[in-house]
Amino acid sequence: MQQVLLVRMGEIFLKGDNRPYFINALARRVRYAIQPLGGTLELAQGRMYVKNVEDMDRCIEKVCKVFGVHSVSPAWQVEKSLPALEDAARELMKGKKGSFKVLARRADKRFPMDSMQLNAHLGGIVLDSNPELHVDVHEPEHTLTVEIREDAYLHVEKIPAVGGIPVGTGGKAMLLLSGGIDSPVAGFMIAKRGVEISAIHYHSFPFTSEQAKQKVVELARLLSEYTGPIHLYVVPFTKIQQELYDKCPDNQLTILMRRFMMRIADRVAKEKGCGALVTGESLGQVASQTMEGLQCSGAVCTLPVFRPLIGFDKTEIMDRAQRIGTYETSILPYEDCCTIFTPKHPTTHPKVERLEESEKALDVDGLIDEAVSGIEDIFVRFQNGKAI
Ligand code: ATP
Ligand code: MG
Repeated sequence: MQQVLLVRMGEIFLKGDNRPYFINALARRVRYAIQPLGGTLELAQGRMYVKNVEDMDRCIEKVCKVFGVHSVSPAWQVEKSLPALEDAARELMKGKKGSFKVLARRADKRFPMDSMQLNAHLGGIVLDSNPELHVDVHEPEHTLTVEIREDAYLHVEKIPAVGGIPVGTGGKAMLLLSGGIDSPVAGFMIAKRGVEISAIHYHSFPFTSEQAKQKVVELARLLSEYTGPIHLYVVPFTKIQQELYDKCPDNQLTILMRRFMMRIADRVAKEKGCGALVTGESLGQVASQTMEGLQCSGAVCTLPVFRPLIGFDKTEIMDRAQRIGTYETSILPYEDCCTIFTPKHPTTHPKVERLEESEKALDVDGLIDEAVSGIEDIFVRFQNGKAI
């Protein structure tokens, strides 16, 4: 008898000719997640098993964060004999109270008892060994599932996992990662649809501190537990902000700054083989995120811009940030470059032509070249709870 983790994948992407491609991608991601725990992965019909891990709780925690995994069950794997099934059934139901039923599924039809007979037999064994339980076949509190396959597997718990599609099957995108609450959630949501993530961050040293940068590295690290390793490109942004401050109208500063961010992200994304940009923008959240604001910042991009949070309220985004584990880091009080040189009355209805007019005072290409040449590439990955 050995404890294993049964890993279920979603149904949608398992259909059609792409099936082996998705399964291999998922297997790679699960292997990566369990590697620090020393486990091994076995593929079986439509599912996977993680075996040989000592710390099952940690294993569950890690595997439940792999996109493409829809649920897991800690299970006992036993030989296909009646005494072995009986022992495992007793063991699994030990200490439980309330109602239960046995749900046997016999994929191996050579097993001498059919499913109904197994249900009745193992139900009787459990009742005899645990007087605190009674049978309810309609709405049981506990369902003891018994699967007779290449071996026999028994489990009671079904734990929902993160869902989505395995990272790496949906291309690659560049996430504009600030130190705020929104952009890590945006990255999570796009990665959940199978997209590999790189990240870009604009840093205005000395106006923004080393701690502000480290906070973003930490956010990338937290995200990388779901997405796999991330290249974080840190762009020196001070010169651009100073030029804007010196030479452009005060009420346009934020939106002009956002256009520079988008231009640089677009250039770096293409260089790094990304097919889209991702931001944490949400319609109407702040002055630069009105419909006109989004049009003006998006107008400088050649790649599509994905804004997965566009229709979310701030409270909904905060709730998600808490669930994925980035919230506590996001609220650390280090200033972001957006908060320096913030105009008192930012324009909420910017016009592309007026912004282009203001940009004539600047050497746009020269500023971008200089910023891009100063990029620091920080490779972040999550292993054993530490960034390495
Ligand atoms: P919050 O709104 O929670 O303060 P935010 O990250 O959404 O944080 P906004 O000012 O709303 O900050 O910026 C909108 C989007 O622009 C962000 O979601 C992010 O994608 C991008 N962005 C803002 N500042 C930066 C930055 N310093 N580096 C990289 N991307 C940034
Ligand atoms: Mg925001």
